[in-house]
Amino acid sequence: MRIVLLGAPGAGKGTQCKHIVAGYGLLHLSSGDILRRERRAASDLGRKAQSYMDAGQLVPDELIVAMVMNELKVSDGSGFLLDGFPRTLGQAKELDRALHEAGTSVAVVLNLEVDDDKLEDRITGRRSCPACGGAYHVLFNPPRTQGKCDKGCGELTQRPDDTSAVVRERIKTYHEQTAPLVAYYQQQGNAKCADGNRQIEQVTKALFELLDAVPQNA
Ligand code: AMP
Repeated sequence: MRIVLLGAPGAGKGTQCKHIVAGYGLLHLSSGDILRRERRAASDLGRKAQSYMDAGQLVPDELIVAMVMNELKVSDGSGFLLDGFPRTLGQAKELDRALHEAGTSVAVVLNLEVDDDKLEDRITGRRSCPACGGAYHVLFNPPRTQGKCDKGCGELTQRPDDTSAVVRERIKTYHEQTAPLVAYYQQQGNAKCADGNRQIEQVTKALFELLDAVPQNA
C-alpha cells in the first residue's frame, strides 16, 4: 500500500506511523527524520536545510524532492508510508509524476485533523532520548524521573524547533503551504480524514479502519 500521512506539526504523525508500520509492515519515510540525519552527518544538504528548519520554515522543494525520491524507490513497486512529505503542492505534483511514470499512484492519503489550540502544547512538551529514540511528553507521557530516559540511557532532549516561537511559525507554515494539499487529494478522491484530537489508541484504531477499507489492488 502506498500511503501519505498528512497533518499539522504535533498532530501525531510520528506516533501513528510507528503503529501503522508495525501493523502493515511498510517502508516508513519521514522527511524530517531524513533531514535531521543529514544535519547530524553535516552533509551539504544538511547544512543547506539547517536555517529553514531552525526558523520553522519549509526547506525548498528542489532539495526535498530530490532527497525523498532518492530514498523512495518508486519503481520497485513496494509499499510505503510517507510522513511529512509532500508538504507543498509542488512536492505533491512531483510525487504524482514520479509514481505515474512508474505506473502507480498514491493509494490513500490519511489526514490527521487536530485543533490548533492543542498543537502547541503537544509539541513543546515533547522530549526524546538521543540514545534509544524513546519518545516522551512532559505532561501526557512523562518519564519516571524528570528529564531522564526510563531505560537508563541518560538525559532526554528537546528538538530545537519544538520551542514555542518556532512551533508557532511551523503551524503557520502548515496552514499556508500544506493544508491546501487536503483539497488537492480530495479532488483525486483518495483522501480520508481522521479525528486526531482523541487518545492515541483511538486514533490508531480509526486509521486502521480506514486502511482496511482500501481495496487490495489500490
Ligand atoms: P518534521 O520532523 O516533519 O516536523 O520536519 C521538521 C522540519 O524539517 C520542518 O519544519 C521543515 O523545516 C523540514 N521539512 C521536513 N519535511 C519537509 C518537506 N516535505 N518540505 C519542506 N521542508 C520539510
